[in-house]
Amino acid sequence: MPKGVAASPGIAIGKAYILEKENLCILEYKIKQEEVEREIKRFKKAVEESKKQVLEIKDKVSKEIGKQEAYIFQSYLNILEDPLLIDGTIEKIKNSRLNAEAALRATYKSFPEKFKAIQSEFIKERFRDVEDVAQRILQNLLEQPTMSLSHLEEKIIIVAYDLAPSDTVSIDKDKVLGFATDVGGRTSHTAIMARALEIPAVVGLRDITKKVKPGSTIIVDGNSGKVIINPTPRQIERYKDKKRKFLIYKKSLENLKSLPPKTIDGREIELAANIAGPEEVDLAMRDGAEGVGLYRTEYLYMNRSSLPSEEEQLEAYRAVVEKVAPYSVIIRTLDLGGDKFLSHFPVPREINPFMGCRAIRLSLELVEVFKTQLRAILRAAMYGKVKVMYPMISALEEVRKANRILSEVKEELKREGLSFSDSVDIGVMIEVPSAAVMADILAREVDFFSLGTNDLIQYTLAVDRVNEKVAHLYQPLHPTILRLIDNVVKAAHREGIWVGACGEMASDPLGVSVLLGLGVDELSVAPTSILEIKKVIRELNWEETQKIVSHLLNLGTSKQVKRYLDSRIGKKIRKILQGGE
Ligand code: PEP
Ligand code: MG
Repeated sequence: MPKGVAASPGIAIGKAYILEKENLCILEYKIKQEEVEREIKRFKKAVEESKKQVLEIKDKVSKEIGKQEAYIFQSYLNILEDPLLIDGTIEKIKNSRLNAEAALRATYKSFPEKFKAIQSEFIKERFRDVEDVAQRILQNLLEQPTMSLSHLEEKIIIVAYDLAPSDTVSIDKDKVLGFATDVGGRTSHTAIMARALEIPAVVGLRDITKKVKPGSTIIVDGNSGKVIINPTPRQIERYKDKKRKFLIYKKSLENLKSLPPKTIDGREIELAANIAGPEEVDLAMRDGAEGVGLYRTEYLYMNRSSLPSEEEQLEAYRAVVEKVAPYSVIIRTLDLGGDKFLSHFPVPREINPFMGCRAIRLSLELVEVFKTQLRAILRAAMYGKVKVMYPMISALEEVRKANRILSEVKEELKREGLSFSDSVDIGVMIEVPSAAVMADILAREVDFFSLGTNDLIQYTLAVDRVNEKVAHLYQPLHPTILRLIDNVVKAAHREGIWVGACGEMASDPLGVSVLLGLGVDELSVAPTSILEIKKVIRELNWEETQKIVSHLLNLGTSKQVKRYLDSRIGKKIRKILQGGE
């Protein structure tokens, strides 16, 4: 049974429609010197035509699906202006005297080689965007019409190598029951669009297009990542039942929107959202988020050829702060490096980027870039409630140095007569073991902590979070992680500050039961997980989770932790998630 990545929840049962991308026939030939200008003009015209088409799609998505999804097409527009692609192709036409189609193909095909060292799933996905954009320019150069999925006759499940956003956008939502694709991960655009359209999807199935015959029946289980080809009548009945249960479960979550995230025995947890930009706020607030617990600002710096100005940042932060008010927004300062890079940014290549000049280290090195961001944050704080959070703190000096720069920025803003808030809370991410061990000392210098479990696990267990070869060693329930978090929470509470958790552990039901038992005060999760996590919190008993955790803290292996947790709470969690398993 093919297994891929569960990208969009739900179950689809139906006929497979194999989507073939037409292979564009690109000829490569040399042009004469006097033809160079004409060829460049032809290329520029195709780029302009592509921009027009993408803008149209962007407007359509914005109106019919949502602003957040339309944002994907903004990155397409950025690619259509990217010097690496556009100027690179023009240079190739000039220097190699190649026809425009061949020059464009040679330019974008060289990208993966240039960025080979980057392991990030996110960056890899963005290469697919470049390919999709290049494909569109090529179609315009060849004057071929673009393919559309808007005239489907019957209800089907789309099986494809990959679906570009421009494919998904044109689909008729009533006709498409599900997606199954060969490539892609949870952050791929097929996944993002499928979730926005609420269509079940499994991606990254490797060779599903080869295994499925057109018109055959398949089942796509977007909850488990499984796809069943030619199911037996019994399997169909079983999945129909699963589907029914899932729909009831989804409906039951809707009722939780306005209810508080409070345990059975009355412990109230703050439940906030992790966002990467203003576009994600609406969904989070609609589902009842009590603020933003992590605003990953680095995405404002990515997918572009220059740094965002103070005014541009102010506008983005202000948009979020105003929408979220009266709740607060925790704005994390730039967390570049690791697996998040900018093509135009002067960051030296490192052998070990996760342990290199990343996050706060980079900000403290590039003080002017840091100051610009802090100015924008302090100014945006005038429009609501803002807290500042420093990422990847590994030593007390870093906090002090960052705070000194923050004080300088305040003085500068005062001198310039610009209005800003002087009273934002300052917090640090606890995601490096040294910070977790020194939590008692750090707690005296800041207003709050937020546990970045994604990195805390990676650095504590020495397991690269993006390397699938060691994925089995990445153990959120490793006893060491529990002990470190226990130390952090106790130290923070002794000093009278609160502790949140914003890593993926906070979006995992078992992880939530452990974090609650350890005494964490706030959880910040992906907007799409708010309701599910709220449901988990509301059905747990805080006292019971504390008792469980006190036993877990004496165990020696992840296996023992998992086994004990499962025996005490596994059944309950499975029941809570009934239909969603
Ligand atoms: C983390 O490390 O847990 C975290 C939330 O930050 P990021 O995933 O952005 O590194
Ligand atoms: Mg982190």
